[in-house]
Amino acid sequence: MREFARVGCATTLAVALLAAVPATATAPLELHVLDCGTMDGIETDAFLSELPDPPAAFDMVNRCFLVVHPLGTLLWDVGFPRNASFTFMSWWLWLSSFGKSSVTMDRSVVEQLAELGYEPSDIDFLAVSHVHFDHIGEANEFADSTWIVQKAERDWAFSEDLDNPFVQPDLFEALAGAKTVELTGDHDVFGDGRVEILTSPGHTPGHQCLYLDLPETGPVVLSGDLYHSTLNREHRLPPNFNVDAEQTRSSMERIEALVSERGAQLWIQHSPDSGVQAPAVVR
Ligand SMILES: [Zn+2]
Repeated sequence: MREFARVGCATTLAVALLAAVPATATAPLELHVLDCGTMDGIETDAFLSELPDPPAAFDMVNRCFLVVHPLGTLLWDVGFPRNASFTFMSWWLWLSSFGKSSVTMDRSVVEQLAELGYEPSDIDFLAVSHVHFDHIGEANEFADSTWIVQKAERDWAFSEDLDNPFVQPDLFEALAGAKTVELTGDHDVFGDGRVEILTSPGHTPGHQCLYLDLPETGPVVLSGDLYHSTLNREHRLPPNFNVDAEQTRSSMERIEALVSERGAQLWIQHSPDSGVQAPAVVR
């Protein structure tokens, strides 16, 4: 039976967990960019309706990321579901919400990790930007990892009266019993300031971004769904299906201030025009 740790002090637990992780202190910090699919021809209504002259449709990519730190591995987002639990109804809800889009994902996260030499059991930490189905699809494969999640997101995701077409609890049910670091704010994953989870609620109650200080590329913030496109960022526009638009705008301000302060790049995970596309390794 897996240990389930709900903790008030995430840092204490993270340090304790890291004691069990074999340290290879000479290894560099690396970011592997994984191809978690595409969503093409998405109608802009839900995302950019406040623009005076929005484009009719736009394309999205879906990216997942493996962070390899000298003290362990962190998987950030796990793409679309790959199993039968992702029902026809889910696709119908997606398509009816966003128009005649086409959704593809050629290879699973597990397959892509295997090509890089990693089994699910090699992943020390799993964190997702949020629990929408396009970010948490393969989560059940990583139930032996330590799940790092905002308390607000976990409570929402497992609440009995949750009724949200983008959240399917069966996609992450195995995480209910996983070792868990529950956060109520930011979190320095490996204790050296190079990999930091940034709370940014609004899209969902416990949405989060990921800050990385890469040795060659420099500081990068992975957006999650704080923005879906460069136009959303340019106009600070939350999509109309966010749980809290005002909170989203506050999160945008906060992350933008941090991006400026730290001189970071901000990669919009769903944007084909932003950051480094998959497959790639970034140092
Ligand atoms: Zn998304």
